[in-house]
Amino acid sequence: MKAIRRFTVRPVLPEPLGRLSELARNLRWSWHPRTRDLFKSVDPRQWEASGCDPVRLLGQVPPARLDELARDEDFLRRLGEAADDLRAYVEGERWYQEQGGGEGPLPRAVAYFSPEFGITAALPQYSGGLGILAGDHLKAASDLGVPLIGVGLLYRHGYFRQSLSHDAWQQEHYPVLDPNELPLVLLREADGTPAIVALALPGGRSLRAHVWQAQVGRVPLLLLDSDVEENDPGERDVTDRLYGGGSEHRLLQEMLLGIGGVRAVRAYCRLTGHPEPEVFHTNEGHAGFLGLERIHELAQHGVGFDAALESVRAGTVFTTHTPVPAGIDRFDRELVAHHFGPGAELPRIDAGDVLRLGMETYPGGEPNLFNMAVMGLRLGSRANGVSTLHGSVSREMFAGLWPGFDAQEVPIASITNGVHAPTWVAPEVFRLGARQIGERRTEDALSVGGSDRWDAVADIQDADIWELRRTLREQLVEEVRRRLYDSWRQRGAATAELGWIDGVLDPGVLTVGFARRVPSYKRLTLMLRDRDRLMELLRHPERPVQIVVAGKAHPADDGGKRLIQELVRFTDDPRVRRHIVFLPDYGMAMAQKLYPGCDVWLNNPLRPLEACGTSGMKAALNGCLNLSVLDGWWDEWFEPDFGWAIPTADGAATDDDRRDDLEAAALYDLLERRIAPRFYEQGPGGLPDRWIEMVRRTLTRLGPKVLAGRMVREYVEQLYAPAARAHRALDATAAGELAAWKARVRAAWPRVAVDHVEASASDATAELGTTLSLRVRVHLGDLTPDDVEVQVVAGRVDPEDHLADPSPMPLKPVSGPDVEGRRVYEGPLALDRTGPFGYTVRILPAHRLLAGGAAELGLVAVPSEATGEEAGVLMR
Ligand SMILES: *Cc1c(COP(=O)(O)O)cnc(C)c1O
Repeated sequence: MKAIRRFTVRPVLPEPLGRLSELARNLRWSWHPRTRDLFKSVDPRQWEASGCDPVRLLGQVPPARLDELARDEDFLRRLGEAADDLRAYVEGERWYQEQGGGEGPLPRAVAYFSPEFGITAALPQYSGGLGILAGDHLKAASDLGVPLIGVGLLYRHGYFRQSLSHDAWQQEHYPVLDPNELPLVLLREADGTPAIVALALPGGRSLRAHVWQAQVGRVPLLLLDSDVEENDPGERDVTDRLYGGGSEHRLLQEMLLGIGGVRAVRAYCRLTGHPEPEVFHTNEGHAGFLGLERIHELAQHGVGFDAALESVRAGTVFTTHTPVPAGIDRFDRELVAHHFGPGAELPRIDAGDVLRLGMETYPGGEPNLFNMAVMGLRLGSRANGVSTLHGSVSREMFAGLWPGFDAQEVPIASITNGVHAPTWVAPEVFRLGARQIGERRTEDALSVGGSDRWDAVADIQDADIWELRRTLREQLVEEVRRRLYDSWRQRGAATAELGWIDGVLDPGVLTVGFARRVPSYKRLTLMLRDRDRLMELLRHPERPVQIVVAGKAHPADDGGKRLIQELVRFTDDPRVRRHIVFLPDYGMAMAQKLYPGCDVWLNNPLRPLEACGTSGMKAALNGCLNLSVLDGWWDEWFEPDFGWAIPTADGAATDDDRRDDLEAAALYDLLERRIAPRFYEQGPGGLPDRWIEMVRRTLTRLGPKVLAGRMVREYVEQLYAPAARAHRALDATAAGELAAWKARVRAAWPRVAVDHVEASASDATAELGTTLSLRVRVHLGDLTPDDVEVQVVAGRVDPEDHLADPSPMPLKPVSGPDVEGRRVYEGPLALDRTGPFGYTVRILPAHRLLAGGAAELGLVAVPSEATGEEAGVLMR
């Protein structure tokens, strides 16, 4: 029978236990070991049964047990301590407050938008790295006291749960999530009715949403939910699942996230007195419409589009996460035009203006596609990639938006991702740290960072490190057997056939892990390239390797599902099935066991398509060594002292197949000749000393770098604080002034030109230490020297005469305009290095309120061919 109505009956906690619900509602329990221990002691069996979810646990504990606890002095004391600790954590001063946060130069609040958030397995609102990064960003911001407000969508089915069919084909299941059973509370108006966010859709329809609030330590996370009775069935489904549905469905999700998200933030601030955000950060392009909503808000106060755009841009930060063009959301122009046309959303913004922000109006762009990343870059004055390498790949990838500029001047910076250590460090690792330097300092080392705190790891005894590694590996082996057993039951095997699972994996064997989503560039099956060779490694008589693999393919990606099938069929082979396993349903709960239990974490993407990668960082924090292609973060921080780089064949003129062969062979070689021998080699004390030393270096050298605390501090210092300052400087008058100036400069630019360049010496050789004096004649048309900067740009040149590391120096106006409107600029050019050297001259727009560096307007005037002879003078 099916119920016609559904309620959630909430437990009534006896009065002395009241603070348990305070602790359960704040997701800090998910990264605070002592609070978790407290919940576990409420009822250890129910704790496991609830999937370690306090809200669910409290709904399941028998009232008799609660009454017992209400009289248990020891429990009440621990409850009081945990609740006091949470209160101190939420209300006390932290790093941000010590920097003078919120008053002086730092923003009063920052809104952080993301299409997914991975905070805990108990709130399954993520698909992979992007969401977990967003969750880690919120947690680290909370630890640092950064006043962030998270904004996302509440997906009623979350992302799919994965299982396997008998013949190893991925099966998807979508659990129904009832927000009343999740750690969420509904945002309500003062009169108790739910706060509503509404968007107008074409044809007089309307899309409404409720706002659920999760509390992530100090940081509120607002999740919009369209499954409300006031909506028509079509609109109710807008937030049904993560990354499902067709184009229009996704456009509606993104409109709700961006536009509705800003409205949710406004409602939240109005109802709680929280300060309004001065900076809006969009994690990937999906939330980009937030900028349009803020322009529209200003338009309602009579600010014109161009001025509003300047003001909004100044306070907007955009982070791009993918160098894979297919990873970027693009919509048909017509679809976007329809949703921002007459009678639809944002009536005060012309649909043409909306389109201009997202169209690929550059060489090689698709004329009919609206690109969310392009809009992100045009609506945000500050943008970044997520590792040093990804920053430079992104500058190349988007260079078309800044014609006339070299890729290195494209205004996209980089901040390398980090991971929230308190979430990802196994309790055993935390305890070892606490034994060494105390609990409080360990907490600080993991959340705030600072390498001095990590140095103490160097003093931990070899035997203790090895013992820890062994314990973690043993736990993983148990977990693998349990999960494998469940998976085989699901694939239709009978218990009697599964005795072999008790012998799967060996707690004394070198364990390699590989788990990630399964887009083709991550090359799940690279390890299968030479099956005989892999089999030899797995079945080596003295130095065997065992491998644990996991990963979900996107539901629409049959290619990815075929890769999984290929891998699983290999692992099903009785000759290897005890040495290599595939575990279905990769997610946070599995990840938290998997990373610590592995000795080596493998990553073999097609370089440079892995923007950063974070799983290897989480592994490193638990003393697992990285074996990876030099891509993403590993390209930046790899050292042979603590890990291995798989040599790559990128850049060479090799076809894909050949490249896979070469890179797979390199992988096998490393495992066989370098990694396994080191793991099994024992020193005089019977321990693998050299391996242990690598573990120690992984912790001391990588530990302080890979932290989300380090990442969020960099966001605050390099992006949020400058964006807040710029936004404050652009009040309505200044924004109008800047917009008018830009329009005037754009109109005048066709007549701006470099007319002639002269240098005091033009020999093809010159001596180090010589200073040339340059004299440059320019046309500025209707502009004046106040509107521009004339620069000499000099540096090393490559054989094609490209400036390899150009550094610009301004020249000074000395005379003009003459009768023909020409002006003369002069300045010195010091030849301060030997070797091939060159310079050129250029004119750029300049204004005190410009944020984005030389390329911001995308306007530049350089010497034409006719003046070129001298302008490009090269000295060899
Ligand atoms: C960290 C994490 C990821 C992201 O890992 P990558 O190295 O970026 O692929 C994906 N899924 C889960 C469950 C994670 O914990």
